[in-house]
Amino acid sequence: MTNQDFDLHHLWHPYTSLTRPLPCYEVASASGVHLQLKDGRRLVDGMSSWWACLHGYNVPELNAAATAQLGKMSHVMFGGLTHDPAIELCKALSGVLPTGLDRFFLADSGSVSVEVALKMAIQYWHGRGTPKTRFASLSRGYHGDTFGAMSVCDPNGGMHSLYKGFLPEHVFVPTPQSRFDGEFDPADLQALETVLEQHHHELAALILEPVVQGAGGMRFYHPDYLKGARALCDRYDVLLIADEIATGFGRTGKLFACDWAGISPDIICIGKALTGGYMTMAATITTQHVAETICNGPAGVLMHGPTFMANPLACAVALESLKLLLDSPWQQRIAAIEAQMRRELAPALKLDSVADVRVLGGIGVIELKEPLNVAEVQKRLVELGVWIRPFGKLFYIMPPYVISPEELSQLTSAMLTVCEK
Ligand code: PMP
Repeated sequence: MTNQDFDLHHLWHPYTSLTRPLPCYEVASASGVHLQLKDGRRLVDGMSSWWACLHGYNVPELNAAATAQLGKMSHVMFGGLTHDPAIELCKALSGVLPTGLDRFFLADSGSVSVEVALKMAIQYWHGRGTPKTRFASLSRGYHGDTFGAMSVCDPNGGMHSLYKGFLPEHVFVPTPQSRFDGEFDPADLQALETVLEQHHHELAALILEPVVQGAGGMRFYHPDYLKGARALCDRYDVLLIADEIATGFGRTGKLFACDWAGISPDIICIGKALTGGYMTMAATITTQHVAETICNGPAGVLMHGPTFMANPLACAVALESLKLLLDSPWQQRIAAIEAQMRRELAPALKLDSVADVRVLGGIGVIELKEPLNVAEVQKRLVELGVWIRPFGKLFYIMPPYVISPEELSQLTSAMLTVCEK
């Protein structure tokens, strides 16, 4: 049995069948913005390994940080022990996160950081002496694949019907219609206010992806909605959780998407690009007020503590990745990527197959009228020398920030070629 056959029959890939698997391409190595396939083909990566690899692959500075840390310790338990990589990372993050967020919980993955955020919110209300255990979430929202996270994902996208009876049922707010680049329609906030008015007494928090709804449709909504949501949460005494797992670290053109509205949530989740895409780590960060209320509550502690919490190797790489980002002209790079994608994806709007084209920061989206056949399109894209993974009707890229204009053109022209059929 070849390795590829073993993979085909024994290894599950994300959201796939083991009996009717989609083809997979074997990667031998990756460097810069290129994935080197085992069959010798070299692809320009348009996905940043799902929003993660900001600086590309095989980055000398990140390799050096990992190697130096390996020589000291790759992991120690965080119960009763602490270490410089975790402390230095959290200090550095405190300096760049939206104001007031400086109480850290280092988690294993994005979904786990969302679980921790939900737990924080529930324990906060215990601490206030008025327990509240439901959440409000936006339709089209996506927050991860574990049960708590899934319960606040869009009910259809999150396949709630499959897990009915196990999944807690929360309250969904109509997704904002005001586009990022259009006029803001106050009706969007009226819909949110109606939900908060009706349910605030039972709502621990509103959870949302600020400005960019990712997996639920790659939609970019108006920052005034975020600003208004913050004000409404304050008015109705409901916490605000911002899931910046996809949007954090510059992807939208601001360091955090909350910065577009100049707001701070009560709890923020970050992940994906936190380690520059090197390994899994995420964080849930809250305010002094929320942290103290939790810890003065009946449990006295935050009830979570994973084995690989604050993994030193991941922390060391994350610290280096943040330095690398902040020392780079990331704003100019994103602005240049944005301008080029706007220019080069715009012609797609004229195609019969295309419903919409939108670009924000380092995210470029062609929304099609009909879902794509992923296996077929993927094959064509690989033949065109690019790695782009379409999803339903969404054909999108979020390349590493270090991509050159020529490499980016390879991505956009492959997208147009596929849309033209
Ligand atoms: N929230 C958002 C907004 C995400 O995009 C993702 C990942 N796709 C998650 C949460 C879950 O993160 P992870 O896959 O690391 O568990």
